Amino acid sequence: MRKPLIAGNWKMNGSVAGNKSLLDGILAGIGAVKTAGVAVCVPYIYIPEVAARLQGTSVAWGAQNVSTEAKGAFTGEIATSMLVDFHCQYVIVGHSERRTLYGETDTLVATKYGVVRAAGMTPILCVGETLQEREQGITEQVVARQINAVIQAHGVASLAKGVIAYEPVWAIGTGKTASPQQAQDVHAYIRSMLAKQDKTVAEGVVIQYGGSMNAQNAAELLAMPDIDGGLIGGASLKAEDFLTICKAANR
Ligand code: PEP
Repeated sequence: MRKPLIAGNWKMNGSVAGNKSLLDGILAGIGAVKTAGVAVCVPYIYIPEVAARLQGTSVAWGAQNVSTEAKGAFTGEIATSMLVDFHCQYVIVGHSERRTLYGETDTLVATKYGVVRAAGMTPILCVGETLQEREQGITEQVVARQINAVIQAHGVASLAKGVIAYEPVWAIGTGKTASPQQAQDVHAYIRSMLAKQDKTVAEGVVIQYGGSMNAQNAAELLAMPDIDGGLIGGASLKAEDFLTICKAANR
């Protein structure tokens, strides 16, 4: 039985005061989240304060990106060892905003996936098609290409303890959610393509849905058999909404 994971992606949002009240709100209600895993992936600069606040609670924390390099002359970058220093458990890699706005390629994302695993953290590998790709009927080819880049670099076993987030690009931050069936179809496809290589990995890998998941639509999406949680952007910034989603993931 896979343990669902709800992860908040705060993106470039937050402030010292705002984070404190958001985390206070989440922690006040987290006791009702009995079975799902919960995490928040926050801007680098807030990781120390978030770590201090969440230490000893059932909420894990992580980053939204990482460098492929271990250390040295890479101005502005953050290494995996620095995230480990602050006990980050998760790192989002290949978010569509990084692929689109910062030119991250499948190969670079696969390298990031590998360094995160090598450092003992869990990568959340984001994959998903644009609206144009969906309309062209190539959704499956796109997600297969993105996942195969990781498999080619690190082997299918590298996905065993990872998390995949299926995030249709047209649904991210747009308020347009994939229907439960649309999402389920792609999740089932991902699992079936992995099963051709390794049935155990396919059965065990956590596949989150991301893309305008919110307090209203979470229960329906999370009821689908291959949807194992969610990567939540906008709705993770309101404690009440985030908690509603986390509770909907209780199984
Ligand atoms: C995301 O940032 O991964 C995301 C899914 O955002 P939103 O929930 O706002 O669509």
